[in-house]
Amino acid sequence: MPDLANGPLKGYLGDLEKCVRCGFCRELCPVGDLYPWEANFPRGKVQLLKALARGDLQISDYIVERIYFCTTCGYCLRRCPSGVRTNEAFEAARAAFVERGLAIPREHSRVVESVLRFGNPFGEAEAARERWMPPWLKAGRRSEVLYWAGCMASYRLEETAISTAKILRAAGLDFTTLGRAEGDCGSILIRTGHWREAERLAEGNARKFEELGIKVLVTSCPGCFRTFAEDYRRLFGIDLKGDLGLEILHSSQLFERLMGEGRISASGSGGRSGAMRVTYHDPCHLGRHMGVYDPPRNVIRGAGAELIEHSKSRWLASCCGAGGGFRSAHGELSVKQAARRAAQLSGLAIDAIVTACPFCVVNLRKGVEAIGGSTPVYDLPSFLDRAMGGI
Ligand code: SF4
Ligand code: SF4
Repeated sequence: MPDLANGPLKGYLGDLEKCVRCGFCRELCPVGDLYPWEANFPRGKVQLLKALARGDLQISDYIVERIYFCTTCGYCLRRCPSGVRTNEAFEAARAAFVERGLAIPREHSRVVESVLRFGNPFGEAEAARERWMPPWLKAGRRSEVLYWAGCMASYRLEETAISTAKILRAAGLDFTTLGRAEGDCGSILIRTGHWREAERLAEGNARKFEELGIKVLVTSCPGCFRTFAEDYRRLFGIDLKGDLGLEILHSSQLFERLMGEGRISASGSGGRSGAMRVTYHDPCHLGRHMGVYDPPRNVIRGAGAELIEHSKSRWLASCCGAGGGFRSAHGELSVKQAARRAAQLSGLAIDAIVTACPFCVVNLRKGVEAIGGSTPVYDLPSFLDRAMGGI
């Protein structure tokens, strides 16, 4: 039996022991609610890992699957009164499984293979990554600001990348992108436990940033944002902020800054987002994991819209069901969770749902469709672009 008490999980053994089994973490766990077995809830996962680490339990495919059955939404991490770093421990356990050559769920392996072979989770050609780029935008130029569009906005939600580029241009910002050379940030590899491969990718990305001489790195995807700003340093000691002096921003933070400086404005531009009543869905990786709650809200208000808050917002926001590879591994369940969230938000008297993550947009649109609704779902860049009169 593989020794799971050593390796990546080692630093979390004390956390597992701290669990008092209160069950607070069960309350809003999206996956436990989808399939309500104790082993699917965070409390059950913690008990499984503790027993494995102590050698009280034999590892099995079934147990491995339970540890992967999670959107990495971070609710349990924020909710735990004992300070158990739950979902970090789950990711560390996955890394221990991979390190020991245990079989991980097939759908997760397929996505990992795509990232390693094609540089994106969809198995798309490298050249197609720059399909969204307008002719005026030149990739790989030396510039102080790099816009990292990310896989989802490049291949599946081009409107996000296009609107972001338009807004940065309207602000008069000198920026560049990496185009087809962008590749993957490594988030999927990290979430699924492929830390060695992720580290190599992180080293390559750090080199790219250094060569371009950039000072500010801007992402559309909260997953890329968290990976660059936190995970590279926490897991691999690659400190993009400390060592390269990079400022790492999610696009919502940059938009807020540009609005504050008066470099972009929605007022008087004939935009179409103003006067709308909208609610904001907090993406897990932007809100709970990175604590970015106010910038997207300020941008929505700055775009002239009325913001209606749901009681399940900010750190209590329900997950859209797409994260942690859950969407690719459990498509139907993922849409079921998106439908629940869509129903929750559509219950407000609103004209639209706005979020700040291309993954959330795609999943919530499926959720709205699944409940037979018609509420539009916008990513923040597209919403702001509309307000500025662009779309
Ligand atoms: S909230 Fe924390 S202490 Fe309570 S059951 Fe969950 S992991 Fe254990
Ligand atoms: S991170 Fe979210 S989905 Fe995963 S176990 Fe915790 S609450 Fe559930």
